[in-house]
Amino acid sequence: MVVNKQRALQPVEFAPAELVLPQVSLAANQENALLRPDAAAAVEEMFAAAAVDGIGLTLVSGYRSYAVQVGTYNHWVNQYGGDTAAADNVSARPGFSEHQTGLAFDVGQSDGACTLGSCFADTPAGSWTADNAHRFGFIVRYQQGAQGVTGFFAEPWHLRFVGTETAGDMRDQGIVTLEEYFGLPAAPGY
Ligand SMILES: [Zn+2]
Repeated sequence: MVVNKQRALQPVEFAPAELVLPQVSLAANQENALLRPDAAAAVEEMFAAAAVDGIGLTLVSGYRSYAVQVGTYNHWVNQYGGDTAAADNVSARPGFSEHQTGLAFDVGQSDGACTLGSCFADTPAGSWTADNAHRFGFIVRYQQGAQGVTGFFAEPWHLRFVGTETAGDMRDQGIVTLEEYFGLPAAPGY
């Protein structure tokens, strides 16, 4: 399943059949932290491995329903004074968010440093994530320099579960976007 600005969820109010709560540190409430079972298990493995390396991770945001994404997107539109083009760089419109798949989550550092900020990339948690997420089947979905393909500014905290085989293969081939990996059109805008 590839979701981007040219590929809405089908139907747009899609919801995963099963969602579970990963047994990891949460930065917000439990309702905000659900994931599909395969992604949740991978999160648990990843956070445990990070802890062994002395890195504290926290789950900031997991599954978001269509209805919740309506609120998230509108929040960003308001932040930019009604400028939807500006909001579209940082937040997906409802029905177009990877968070609605149940396969994506935002990771943070356990002390809250640089949560959902570009400086997250420079934190120990951000650095560990960039180096290790693929081992657990995750890719950093929106990378620096890829906005022309993904349509989003870099989000070093936003991870998408694709499985260890695909994540490892992408890393080996040096491909950072799902669009390029699967030969799909770039999706810089709606
Ligand atoms: Zn995200």
